[in-house]
Amino acid sequence: MGVLALTGGYKAGNSVSEELFKWPIVTAEDENAVIEVLRAGSMSGTDITQIFEKEYAQWNGVKYALGCCNGTAALTEALWACGVGAGDEVICPSMTYWASATPVVALGGTVNFADIDRNTLCIDPTDIEHRIGPRTKAIVVVHYAGYPCDMDAVMDIAARHDLKVVEDVSHAQGGLYKGRKLGSIGHIAGTSLMAGKALVAGEGGMVTTNDQRLFDRCVAFGHYERLVASNYSTASMSLSSPELLPYVGLPLGGVKHRMNQTCSAMGRVQLRNYPERCAEIQKAMNYLWDNLSDLPGIKAHRPASDSGSTMGGWYLPKGIFCSEELEGVSCKVFCAALTAEGLPCRPGANTALHRHRWFHDFDIYGHGKPSVTAFSERDVRQDDSTLPNAAHCEEFCFTVPWFKKYIPEEIDQYIAIYRKVLTNYRELLSIDPEKI
Ligand SMILES: *Cc1c(COP(=O)(O)O)cnc(C)c1O
Repeated sequence: MGVLALTGGYKAGNSVSEELFKWPIVTAEDENAVIEVLRAGSMSGTDITQIFEKEYAQWNGVKYALGCCNGTAALTEALWACGVGAGDEVICPSMTYWASATPVVALGGTVNFADIDRNTLCIDPTDIEHRIGPRTKAIVVVHYAGYPCDMDAVMDIAARHDLKVVEDVSHAQGGLYKGRKLGSIGHIAGTSLMAGKALVAGEGGMVTTNDQRLFDRCVAFGHYERLVASNYSTASMSLSSPELLPYVGLPLGGVKHRMNQTCSAMGRVQLRNYPERCAEIQKAMNYLWDNLSDLPGIKAHRPASDSGSTMGGWYLPKGIFCSEELEGVSCKVFCAALTAEGLPCRPGANTALHRHRWFHDFDIYGHGKPSVTAFSERDVRQDDSTLPNAAHCEEFCFTVPWFKKYIPEEIDQYIAIYRKVLTNYRELLSIDPEKI
């Protein structure tokens, strides 16, 4: 019998404080904002949304922001704005949520997945360039679990090959890359503001860009009546995308992406409060990792404190696991040991998308062949051999509690469990991972 709960010892346990995890924080301010929209019956208007967009653009440090019904819609129009269409290729990290990549296929393109870096969990910049072909149009980057992707490297590759960079900021609103806000560095960005994310508008999404041409194309794709209403935009479109002008006033993407104003009203309140709440998340998460930094086997998933880069709202945080520092204990066994102590933990992160059949053989549109290759000139579907890190992320990363409040005496209980497991890791050497 050992000291660890997994080897028969006493369970450490921790009193779970709801306060630490409650999110989103909804107050009377949110309720009143939503009720006002309901009473005015202006759910389908765009007046409040346009105020939200202005505030969002200013906060995000960009010229233009466009509110959407969800993040998937925002990314779809951002990709279309970049010219992604039938037969085009887009490079995207394999380990991310569906919506970073599915819109490419929805637009008739194909996804060339790139591997992730084991320390950042973001796209590995050294795995991009060899994937670029004559039909490659864009690179999607995801600031995964809040970690700001290596934008300098990606922007450099994109500039050399004349590609657009689409940032997926859904995990990282408010995060910085070398002092610049995420979502303002690539050519265009899409983000999710659904209820589970760090920045919440209820259900919604946002496009951000400094490029008016890209902005106008997004409006044309799914917000048709706004282009008609704005002489300014129509004028700029006549210069930048004259081929679209005869169609202005129609939803060019065949879709409607308008944000429900109950959501934009809530989003305004959430955004106003976000800098303070986000700073508290950072304080809490940094407290956790600062107090684990001397332990073998695990490393914080965060940029160096002197890099000018930060983790934003730290969405669904992860830790990096180093089996070699623990004489080969597997991440799976480590997570089981934490869970047995009363700290629920799972190895891995999002399932690598290249592993899913949807990206291999699903026929969405009835082409009679896999949609992912329906129009493409080359078949870029892959197996695990070319994407080893994304395929095996359960070996080197694990889930970490997402603290929203800085309550040191509560967080200390979590720290104590990590310490207990890692200082007694040798007890885990005898456990067979297959038997867990
Ligand atoms: C949540 C999420 C999205 C999609 O946003 P929805 O608002 O759910 O449509 C896109 N990309 C990533 C990485 C996400 O986590």
